[in-house]
Amino acid sequence: ATPAATMVGTTIGAGHGVLFKGGDVLERAKDVDTVVFDKTGTLTEGEMELTDVIAFDREGNPIPDGGTASRADSGEGDLAASDTDRLGENDVLRLAAIAERGSEHPLARAIVDGAEERGLDVSEPEAFENVPGHGVRATVAPDHLDGGSEVLVGNRKLLRDNGIDPAPAAEEMERLESEGKTAMLVARVPAGTNDGRLAGIVADADTVKPSAADAVAALRDRGVDVMMITGDNERTARAVAERVGIDPENVRAGVLPEDKSDAVEAIQADGRQAMMVGDGVNDAPALAVAYVGTAIGSGTDVAIEAADVTLMRDDPLDVVKAIRISDATLQKIK
Ligand code: ADP
Ligand code: MG
Repeated sequence: ATPAATMVGTTIGAGHGVLFKGGDVLERAKDVDTVVFDKTGTLTEGEMELTDVIAFDREGNPIPDGGTASRADSGEGDLAASDTDRLGENDVLRLAAIAERGSEHPLARAIVDGAEERGLDVSEPEAFENVPGHGVRATVAPDHLDGGSEVLVGNRKLLRDNGIDPAPAAEEMERLESEGKTAMLVARVPAGTNDGRLAGIVADADTVKPSAADAVAALRDRGVDVMMITGDNERTARAVAERVGIDPENVRAGVLPEDKSDAVEAIQADGRQAMMVGDGVNDAPALAVAYVGTAIGSGTDVAIEAADVTLMRDDPLDVVKAIRISDATLQKIK
């Protein structure tokens, strides 16, 4: 494009909150044949809410939770009053919240907020470790549990890596995930033992952005392939994909933060020209390797830095707008 056309396109974009980082990206955007959306915070609001708490017995079966609601008001869980192998829902939630207190992850914030809303006393853990892409591990003081324990909150892999079999929770996990929720296992290892056991499940849900489905439809109308990439599990990812109109085979789930850019490179390996759209720190390397990297909305500075296009508003439809502005700019000067 001529410098004048570039300036017009850039100015029109800015008027719509679509910021192009230079004239070459303004030209490239029209040739995008694949759009790869990050899930959390990009297609969804990224504001998780605690939706479910399930307590398991020793065999990993859900147990009825008797009378925890009244005890919740005192800020105490129901553990002290019961057999330690039969935690109540509030015990499971409180343990999970203590373990997640030190995590910045939106999944963690929702668990802590949910516990506090139920009046549970979310104290500091003695030790805390973040296991990126998997969950958290924390040491919880003896006054909360018999002799204290190590608490794990996260996905199946986190438990397996710590020698705890997640299989007994499979049915409940799958049920929650097919509702589009992120279900996390809670396990504890009593201090001084290797006797790790499942304690329960907590689940968070996110809301799909109102315009996400319209954006996917508009891109597909244009002949653009739409894909989704996420660290979340396959079943949750597919449930969200279905809601926004992305084909199940176009979902790349369980992708670790450090593997997102490899996944985009793999998508581009056959000559595709992909626009990666993401919001998080996790997404920066993937934005950088994409043919066009697009940071959306309240995205982090790191994502904006790595991106070629920044969408100031938090609206997936602006992805379509960015491509159309590129079309229009280039057509005018032909
Ligand atoms: P996303 O790409 O959705 O941001 P992440 O790569 O951060 O996901 O995490 C992948 C998965 O690891 C999550 O879906 C969850 O199962 C688990 N996980 C990550 N962080 C936490 C945490 N703080 N607590 C519990 N589970 C977690
Ligand atoms: Mg994200």
